[in-house]
Amino acid sequence: ENFAVPKYWTTLSLVLGFMMLSATGTSLLLPSLGDIESLLLNDTGSINSTSTDYGHIVYEFAAAVLNPTSPNDIVSLILSANNNSAPVSVAARGQGHSVRGQALTSGGVVINMTALIRNGSRIVVSESPSLGSYADVGGEQRWVDVLRATLERGLTPVSWTDYLYLSVGGTLSNAGISGQTFLYGPQINNVYELDVVTGKGELVTCSSKKVPELFYAVLGGLGQFGIITRARIPLAPAPKRAKWVRMMYSNFSAFSRDQEHLMAPNGFDYLEGFLLMKQGPLDLSFYPLLDQPRIAALINRYGIIYYIEAAKYYDDSTTKTVDKVVEKTIKGLSFVPEFLFEQDVSYIDFLDRVHTEEENLRSLGLWEIAHPWLNIFVPKSRISDIDSGVFRNILLKQNVPTAVSLIYPMNRKRWDGRMSAVIPDEDVFYVVGLLHASGFNDWQAFDEVNRQLLQFCTDAGIRVKQYLPHYKTREDWKNHFGRKWQSFQDMKVRFDPNKILAPGQRIFSALV
Ligand code: FAD
Repeated sequence: ENFAVPKYWTTLSLVLGFMMLSATGTSLLLPSLGDIESLLLNDTGSINSTSTDYGHIVYEFAAAVLNPTSPNDIVSLILSANNNSAPVSVAARGQGHSVRGQALTSGGVVINMTALIRNGSRIVVSESPSLGSYADVGGEQRWVDVLRATLERGLTPVSWTDYLYLSVGGTLSNAGISGQTFLYGPQINNVYELDVVTGKGELVTCSSKKVPELFYAVLGGLGQFGIITRARIPLAPAPKRAKWVRMMYSNFSAFSRDQEHLMAPNGFDYLEGFLLMKQGPLDLSFYPLLDQPRIAALINRYGIIYYIEAAKYYDDSTTKTVDKVVEKTIKGLSFVPEFLFEQDVSYIDFLDRVHTEEENLRSLGLWEIAHPWLNIFVPKSRISDIDSGVFRNILLKQNVPTAVSLIYPMNRKRWDGRMSAVIPDEDVFYVVGLLHASGFNDWQAFDEVNRQLLQFCTDAGIRVKQYLPHYKTREDWKNHFGRKWQSFQDMKVRFDPNKILAPGQRIFSALV
């Protein structure tokens, strides 16, 4: 069976795409927004530049864009947006790297958070006896800039995303996960304090001690309660380099058993896993040229190969022992003999590894394309069903081109249950991400794969949670949040009673 794109989709998408791109925000009228109006832009360029995201699937046109010069401008906008008989919706846009229109608004105001980056240094590293080292960073800052600024002081945050060109406010509104999450929890679990402009226009400093309801609601809160203008992030001494390894498996249960084994402390500092499938596209650039043919042969032979990607950090004091530690950590693992590969790179090159891929893809014109991604959290007890039911029975059988498919475990106990983020009910759960890349006009075929995956989970009674969730109905959101739904709604009423914030998430009714 082949992965075919229905022709009518292509035609329909072309027509819709043309209609959307030819619209401009200038025809959308806003009620009066007082003094802040002088800072609003509604030229076609500003409106179009905030009308879609990394997904290139959803297009929404704002009536105006605010380039704030300080958090006070955000306060003024939100106060004015509430002060109308028909409140105006407001969407904070960090780096616009959502894939389903989460940072968009139709007819409201987009806050271009990156404008704050021009406003002097908003990354300040400090130390206190009670907290140790920490950084106060603007919600608009990119993680890559946080990394560079803290490394200058020999320090680093401990929990990351794979890709660092995302805003602090954007990832803290979701969770912020990567191969460090099994050890330290997601980025939302690594925050001391936040400044938040609530949906009522109040600038509030909150933490686990001060207004904790707002603090925990905002962490993983999908932008529903306020706009993060500052986050206080704990820092640790930065390592200098990383031993970066990949181990290949043909057998899923050996792969997942070894991943879970590697979650033990004092082993690797980073732990992820990926699929390589015979239908490709295959990126083997990590591996020595000489080894690439035998890797390709292995993938062809089995159809699917799983690999564990892990890293051990080291510095001058551990440079002599790191190889021994890696050796000891991987002893007894069941990867295919001779299919262990290693690189030795600087810490920053390791953390910034996806940027290298970005540059390659950009040069091939393959970055600005559609990304119908789906990420789910799967309880450990059902992860082998995902292998048989999804990887083998959907992806392999239908020959679905798999750009990047990731799968790695995390510890529930590293996620504070008071945060808005939702995860499965088991101690260990996996993230499974199908990071599809498609042409502008064939993403629907990948969405059909996503639909089949979710349907398979429903039919098989696998209680998954979406990460970077996207739902169409209130009922689905209610199911998603489960026992947290009531408090999520209560916090909305308390902090954003007119429901003006983050309409692109489509959780509460979108307002104009
Ligand atoms: P945006 O898309 O701009 O905004 C996302 C949501 O947050 C919107 O609802 C928006 O209104 C709201 N928001 C934005 N700024 C603020 C703020 N300051 N305060 C309150 N709300 C705000 N995620 C991971 O966890 N791990 C990964 O490894 C990872 N890798 C990725 C790699 C790529 C190439 C891409 C495109 C995405 C990746 N993501 C990953 C997903 C990413 O973390 C989320 O999409 C995140 O929201 C992107 O941040 P952003 O600044 O682009 O947010």
